[in-house]
Amino acid sequence: MKVRHYNIPIFIPELACPHQCVFCNQEKISGTDEAPKPEEISGIIDTWLSTIDTEISHVELAFFGGSFTGIPVNLQEEYLKEVLPYIESGEIKGIRLSTRPDYINQDILDLLKKYGVTSIELGAQSLDKFVLKMAGRGHSTEDVKIAAKLINENGFELGLQMMLGLPFDTKEKSIYTAKKIIELGAKTTRIYPTLVIDGTALGKQYKEGTYKAICLEDAIDWTKDIIMLFEDAKVTVLRTGLHPSEEFEDDKSLLAGPYHPSFKEMVMTEVWKDKLSNLMTDENDLRIFVNPSQVNFAVGYKAKNKTELLKTHNSVKVFGDDNLDKFDFYVGDNR
Ligand code: SF4
Repeated sequence: MKVRHYNIPIFIPELACPHQCVFCNQEKISGTDEAPKPEEISGIIDTWLSTIDTEISHVELAFFGGSFTGIPVNLQEEYLKEVLPYIESGEIKGIRLSTRPDYINQDILDLLKKYGVTSIELGAQSLDKFVLKMAGRGHSTEDVKIAAKLINENGFELGLQMMLGLPFDTKEKSIYTAKKIIELGAKTTRIYPTLVIDGTALGKQYKEGTYKAICLEDAIDWTKDIIMLFEDAKVTVLRTGLHPSEEFEDDKSLLAGPYHPSFKEMVMTEVWKDKLSNLMTDENDLRIFVNPSQVNFAVGYKAKNKTELLKTHNSVKVFGDDNLDKFDFYVGDNR
């Protein structure tokens, strides 16, 4: 039986964060004003667990949205204590959290280990020194390297998140960042194209004309190449782009940037466009077999890839084959 994975997300937005990264307005990004109080955590967990069959599921809890290890240690412990009974009962298998590279040290890792934290994601954003400096992160690329090493040495799963299109970023620099993330031993990553949100320093730069946002086509092109690098290195890409959010659909807070509710689908369409561009077959009626998770991407966003193939083939059908790895495919015959 296939095990289903669930993350119970708990957003802790900009709680006690003294930094102001140029792109960040936590309130707008998470769509949440306040962090839940520690005593509210068990209620949130129970609500989620009531909808999940934990016998056949792998459930984790995720503290996201801010820098968890930047909040006071006693408060971290209060949050973690609330989750501990569920870890001990086996209903929750582990805790993931996100934080800043400069909020990691041995004492912090000892505390996290004690309460069942299994995965730590760091907002690396860029490993190009100048891009990172201009992003106003307030930490260095060296901080990322030191924290990554410590996290790996202590047996946690390391995640390193990156952004594309920060001030002074280029495709080459973002590919360099991806390669460094691989070198640093990350097991997971998230790729966030930079969005310009009102009320941020970047929003101000954009309005003043000193920052130009990366366009959607470039964001798709950069992300496509970066995804394939991660794929080859077996680094799992947990997310590309932000969650489609009503905040951005209706609100005027998004000033510019490559936001699209189907961003991931558009990126994967281009990945498959590359793969299918040199098909060596003279079949008129094309039957392409891919992993079931890839059928929609192979067909393409708004059937873009299928339409392209129909220029040279009478018919095109894409089928799922469970035996195939994620990016493998074959062309079957028409019998
Ligand atoms: S992105 Fe920067 S400003 Fe925003 S919460 Fe994280 S560290 Fe603080």
